[in-house]
Amino acid sequence: MSTRWKEDLVRLGQLGRPSRRAAYSREDLDASMGVFRMEGTAEMRESRQYIIERMREAGLDVRLDRIGNLFGRMEGEDPKAPVVMSGSHLDSVSNAGMFDGAAGVAAALEAVRTMRDERFTPRNPIEVCVFMGEEGSAIPEACVGSQVLAGVRRLDEALDLKTAQGSRLGDLLAASGHVGALMPGLDDVGWFVELHIEQGPVLCSEDTPVGIVESIAGITYLVITIEGEENHAGSTPMRLRRDALVAAARVISACDQKARAFAESGDGSAVATVDCCTVLPGAPSIIPGSVRIGIDIRDGSAGTIRALRRHIEAVLGELEKDYGFRTTTEIVMDYPPVELDQRVIRMIESAASAAGLRARRMASGAIHDAQSIARKVSTGMIFVPSVRGVSHSPFEWTEWNDLEKGIAVLTGTLKRLSRSDLEGEPAGTLRGGGDAH
Ligand SMILES: [Zn+2]
Repeated sequence: MSTRWKEDLVRLGQLGRPSRRAAYSREDLDASMGVFRMEGTAEMRESRQYIIERMREAGLDVRLDRIGNLFGRMEGEDPKAPVVMSGSHLDSVSNAGMFDGAAGVAAALEAVRTMRDERFTPRNPIEVCVFMGEEGSAIPEACVGSQVLAGVRRLDEALDLKTAQGSRLGDLLAASGHVGALMPGLDDVGWFVELHIEQGPVLCSEDTPVGIVESIAGITYLVITIEGEENHAGSTPMRLRRDALVAAARVISACDQKARAFAESGDGSAVATVDCCTVLPGAPSIIPGSVRIGIDIRDGSAGTIRALRRHIEAVLGELEKDYGFRTTTEIVMDYPPVELDQRVIRMIESAASAAGLRARRMASGAIHDAQSIARKVSTGMIFVPSVRGVSHSPFEWTEWNDLEKGIAVLTGTLKRLSRSDLEGEPAGTLRGGGDAH
């Protein structure tokens, strides 16, 4: 296999680093090698431009939609057959690694280049895609590009989202020049497969090169404000206090305990994290009057997420009723869990076994663009191992030979899907890929 994809990833990594240093191996990494690519920035423009050039070199027809999703199309024998789509995102969180998202873009590009080299003719068109704003770095919401593409979020509402600095997403994208005239939609798409790094320790610890995702966890993110009474820390007796931080501590520990109980009794995938806490006024000698906490709840079961939320609401109810606190809950994010398509899962399995590679089915705890797309189109996901499970860190790494195996499986899967009559699946009936899961 060619190493073009490796050069693509090293180059994209450079474009995301302030130092522009190249990392060819894990030994090259250090804390200063963090990648940061945010929609609307110069490094994002350069990275997208880099991929557009590679798409054109590969003979793909490049298009952009109105929310900034990028597509490179390889025509099939039947241009009207449902499109087989593959790709991921190029944006990152701050101080990130060079594989999250970029690996899936480079892999999809390499898959079509390999098909060209082999003179493989797909019957269905194949499109390589780059989704806008997966990480939610520019605007405080994740997967906006893929949600608009899947029609689960309105285009005008998404374009009106504001960045932390108060500018409109639509203006930011227009200024970057990477928006097109295409209306976002998946009506002509039949299949989607995303390759992504696992971002967890399972494949690496088991020494399994390929993960096949069966379900992607749902996520609910709550911001809770607890208002008590700010007062003197010396002269206010314990029985007369309404300490908002003590109340928040009850919520935090209830949240952790309940998630542990669900994880032990269920399939172990339930997780809840209080990831930030703002204490006001947060000064010496003052009883905290107000506390804001952010709670991230995830599981493969919508019922568990609901039950965890109800438990937190019950604790808040007690704080209000028994202790006189005022509380408010804001739902910042609420994405349902999705099951991926069993036919695509079987095709990935058959591509892995044809390549002589061990693969295992697994759940994804992290959210991905595939979650949005799977609500409209038959979708599969291929995981490649993350060294020691590290991700969203400058030390994130995936071994090149593992990625090479993942690309081989992705290529095999896309070939199968693009000639899916060979697999006994009548491709003509698969348009739209069925309803939301
Ligand atoms: Zn990602």
